[in-house]
Amino acid sequence: MQFTEQYDVVVVGAGHAGCDAAMAAARMGLRTALYTLNVDLIAQMSCNPAVGGIAKGHLVREVDALGGIMGEITDAVGIQFRLLNTSRGPAVWSPRAQCDKQAYRLKMREVLESQANLKIKQAEVADLIVEPSSSSRVCRGIKLRDGRTVGADAIIITTGTFLNGLIHCGEQQYPAGRSGEPPSVLLGEGLKRLGLRGCRLKTGTPPRLDGRTIDWSRFQLQPGDADPTPFSFRTKRVAHADSQVPCYIAYTTDETHRIIRENVHRSPMYSGQITSIGPRYCPSIEDKIVKFPDKETHQLFLEPEGLNTHEIYVNGMSTSLPIEVQLAIIKSVPGLENAEMLRPGYAIEYDSIDPTELERTLETKQIARLFLAGQINGTSGYEEAACQGIMAGINAGLKVKCEAPLTLDRTEAYTAILIDDLISKGTNEPYRMFTSRAEFRLHLRIDNADRRLTPHGRRVGLISDSDWAEFLAKQERLAGLKQLLETARVNTLPADLGAKIGNVAGTTFAQVLKRPEVTIEDLVPVLRDMMPSFFGSDDTCVSAQGLSSQVRNELKSVETEIKYAGYLDQQQRAIERLKKAEQRNIPDWFDYRSVSGLSREMQEKLERVRPRTLGHANRIPGVTPAAVSLVNVYIEIQARRQHQAASIPAD
Ligand code: FAD
Repeated sequence: MQFTEQYDVVVVGAGHAGCDAAMAAARMGLRTALYTLNVDLIAQMSCNPAVGGIAKGHLVREVDALGGIMGEITDAVGIQFRLLNTSRGPAVWSPRAQCDKQAYRLKMREVLESQANLKIKQAEVADLIVEPSSSSRVCRGIKLRDGRTVGADAIIITTGTFLNGLIHCGEQQYPAGRSGEPPSVLLGEGLKRLGLRGCRLKTGTPPRLDGRTIDWSRFQLQPGDADPTPFSFRTKRVAHADSQVPCYIAYTTDETHRIIRENVHRSPMYSGQITSIGPRYCPSIEDKIVKFPDKETHQLFLEPEGLNTHEIYVNGMSTSLPIEVQLAIIKSVPGLENAEMLRPGYAIEYDSIDPTELERTLETKQIARLFLAGQINGTSGYEEAACQGIMAGINAGLKVKCEAPLTLDRTEAYTAILIDDLISKGTNEPYRMFTSRAEFRLHLRIDNADRRLTPHGRRVGLISDSDWAEFLAKQERLAGLKQLLETARVNTLPADLGAKIGNVAGTTFAQVLKRPEVTIEDLVPVLRDMMPSFFGSDDTCVSAQGLSSQVRNELKSVETEIKYAGYLDQQQRAIERLKKAEQRNIPDWFDYRSVSGLSREMQEKLERVRPRTLGHANRIPGVTPAAVSLVNVYIEIQARRQHQAASIPAD
């Protein structure tokens, strides 16, 4: 077939998945084209202009460690940074940044435009060009709505909520990809014709207010961290560290709840107008009132959308109630009596593809060289989209180069957990990441994402020589400090620490650090003398202790490794056991019906698939880890019975 243009990789969609996918492919040296409906809306934040948050911050760190761009862009345009969950263990600390929405788009476009091998194109992709091949079908390119055809060796679709998107606001409904943009109907139909299974999902967004009409004195101030933690391992200091803006906390009232209760029948979710399923953990305000009738008040966060706009995002008030009801709800909150609404909230229904259609590389099983990433795979969130984007970009690139794919293990990245959950269990509601989805959380921290993933990024060509040299130097610094703490013995301690913990002369610094009341920052005065090279001469972003945020984060990382060494070793052993068990073969003769304690449902599922290994059994949708453990035990029992039967001589 003759194409109008030809590339190595074509990415459809310049949202959060598409941008990181296109950057990865282009940085791998492949001629890449990124198609989007509107180049002015590249990396548009459809909902809250915030990146990160619990578990989502982990994903951004992982994208960054692999060589992606979301973290650096956030550091450049974030206007408020907070490290969340610091009252809990380091496994669940996670950075979050409120971004300048417009600056995020512009910065992303600037970065994409300055990337070699990458062309950005505004056009609607109307269909895929798929040909039969000897084994299955293969995607050869795309058709644009204007009739042009574009050939590629790999195609990545990242069309977010656009496929057959339908917006709902009260009784009104109209086709749209998101507010103010058309839906993608032709491509949606094209994907259906290809026979990819799909389902219909829903998400929603709150109203936006004009900040000049808000009485700010009525709310509780929520400032950013004095010493902001960057998202990217490559950022020394976030751009707006000294010019952060606050957010504010507000509360719903009895009146708010009364208005919602009286009008809930007009919400498309309750009137039956919407039947598809929304994100369970990001409920609309009407959902909260219906599902938690006894809760007297709900928290709202008033968050600025940028430095050069008065637009305010009302986090916690996602709704699809009619506009006049939204206005009444807003005015029922003390401080918002005179607030003017800039944009109403709405809900959107859209088509997604069943992610069990995908291989671990995010290539579709049915059509070779066709990859899917982002919300189209049933996820929700910018970060969930970006981590799939980079993995799809990498694997599309590796496929084009005829190199081995990159697939990550659940024990090494949240990104892998997300992909593993999606492709093995599918999802019937928008999937978002939580730290509770990880089996070995303490291994998957924000501080060690580079150690876990940067070597993979380097192998596939996403980490430059200078970044790699910096990574290696950092690992050496951390190992050196850890060794020093484990071997050097205490002679003198800073006076205040000595007063707190008494005489510990002769013990190692690591033993001192293991005490719950001691932090590594208490030891800084001694460590500075013992290992001045660790502290360097970096005078950026100086905290109260006189430490740059980079040094502070590195110290915390070593502290975690020492304080939690016991748990980390325990988890490491469990990981190794699990890996061994995962690979354990289930014999052909294995009889699921004779496993006592295995429910009929589990028996049927396992019988139908007859998995080859315990790992395979674990990934069958609906099969629980408990069922897999039982099978593990019964492999032994049944093998012993078989052996005994074989050794009893026949009469
Ligand atoms: P998107 O960011 O949606 O990007 C899709 C891209 O595809 C766009 O560039 C578009 O132009 C392009 N495109 C589409 N069709 C075509 C075509 N045929 N040809 C060429 N280009 C095409 N996430 C949360 O975490 N929390 C929330 O509360 C939340 N609320 C949301 C509310 C709304 C109303 C919406 C729309 C989204 C919400 N999200 C929320 C989800 C979040 O915005 C998405 O998960 C994320 O943006 C998905 O990224 P993506 O790259 O997959 O797609």
